[in-house]
Amino acid sequence: MRIYNTLTKTKEEFVPIEEGKVRMYVCGPTVYNLIHIGNARPMIVFDTVRRYMEYKGYEVNYVSNFTDVDDKIIKAANEEGVDASVISERYIEECKKDMKALNVRPATTHPKATEEISGMLEMIGTLMNKNYAYKAEDGTVYYRTRSFKEYGKLSHKNLDDLQGGNRSLLVTGEDQKEDPLDFVLWKPKKEGEPYWESPWCKGRPGWHIECSVMSKKYLGEEIDIHAGGEDLVFPHHENEIAQSEAANGKTFARYWMHNAFLNIDNKKMSKSLGNFFTVRDIAAKYDLQVLRFLMLSAHYRSQLNFSADLMAAAKNSLERILTAYERIAELYEKAEDKGLSADEVSLNTEIKGYVAKYEEAMDDDFNTSDAISVMFELVKSANSNLDENSGREIVGIYKQALETMADILGIILVQEKGDLDSEVEALIAKRQEARANKDFAKADEIRDKLTAMGIVLKDTREGVKWSRA
Ligand code: AMP
Ligand code: ZN
Repeated sequence: MRIYNTLTKTKEEFVPIEEGKVRMYVCGPTVYNLIHIGNARPMIVFDTVRRYMEYKGYEVNYVSNFTDVDDKIIKAANEEGVDASVISERYIEECKKDMKALNVRPATTHPKATEEISGMLEMIGTLMNKNYAYKAEDGTVYYRTRSFKEYGKLSHKNLDDLQGGNRSLLVTGEDQKEDPLDFVLWKPKKEGEPYWESPWCKGRPGWHIECSVMSKKYLGEEIDIHAGGEDLVFPHHENEIAQSEAANGKTFARYWMHNAFLNIDNKKMSKSLGNFFTVRDIAAKYDLQVLRFLMLSAHYRSQLNFSADLMAAAKNSLERILTAYERIAELYEKAEDKGLSADEVSLNTEIKGYVAKYEEAMDDDFNTSDAISVMFELVKSANSNLDENSGREIVGIYKQALETMADILGIILVQEKGDLDSEVEALIAKRQEARANKDFAKADEIRDKLTAMGIVLKDTREGVKWSRA
């Protein structure tokens, strides 16, 4: 398995620190609002990486944080006149709902910054003791960036270039630094902000320290993969490396993975351009599986464009797979055991070839785009080679191959019944009961209710079937 490592700018063979195990950290969202579809990209991409690693037999310890103390959260809390924790707890819950709807599995651990303050104080203390950090007069603790000799190795930036022209790249707004390159580890409290006691001043952590601390606590000082969106390479991940490697004296992460951005109609998504979509906005119009499918149709390191046309195309493509699977599953139910005919033996070889090709694509830096193309080859082959006379064995082999491929991508082939479906079915059962009791007025009343819900009923020999209008 080869992974593109931002640190070396090359694809490298994946060799885990501990055989058979993967320690993986993915920077999670700042929870002050509903997540937007850009935030959904790293969630979907790295959930797929995790699924594939598990398919390959690795035990994956997957940690993803919630940043629950931050200026934007405090601002939202002050606007609503509530505690910051009310805002962050609310949006953590909402984020988890969106993740579930996107079929993103919960992490092994989802730590929250506010619950890890003691670890942050400890690491900042270590950095102070080792002279990598200092306290300014107002109590702010800064990281002494130039003291970390390898600073810039991830973003391939040169310290002097940073200091020279491009001041916009620096953390701004601080004035008691020894050097403009230094960044905040701990800052004094301001009126109306949450704060914690510390040896330096009452205050709160800078943003970068939480990930160094949580990664160490839940995964150890050295981890296999650290991931996030490409905007995090600098300064966030660069600063995490400086903190962790200076404090622990060890390599922090071996492989650094970054997803490219998602744009809307070829423009950066932004509220001011009016092209900003939350996952919830999309859920109101589409099945979120379509969004997941669209995201995986592109390679994670390529920019992804979101548009209504591309969603429509993704919906069609996904339906081709779902329809093929439905047919295969029906054939499988009815098929008889026949063993493999000579033709089917060669079909079996063909299917194995598709599975191998799919794995090859995924082994090559998780090329989900090529993997999806292989799924279509498999679907095409099933559509043309299977019919009512096919034996259970060969149908089962197609079925299994398609299920495996879909599961790695987190595509659900058969939707489980949601609450709404159960409600519809309960109403249908009541209507049947009313009819059996010859209470036709009630039966019609229930039918009207279902119609109002957009449900179409059809009486068939096998009983009442329903669909959405
Ligand atoms: P944030 O809450 O801004 O820290 O973002 C959470 C995650 O979403 C980070 O990994 C970001 O890099 C990622 N992210 C934010 N916007 C986008 C976008 N438009 N496309 C892809 N990833 C994004
Ligand atoms: Zn982080």
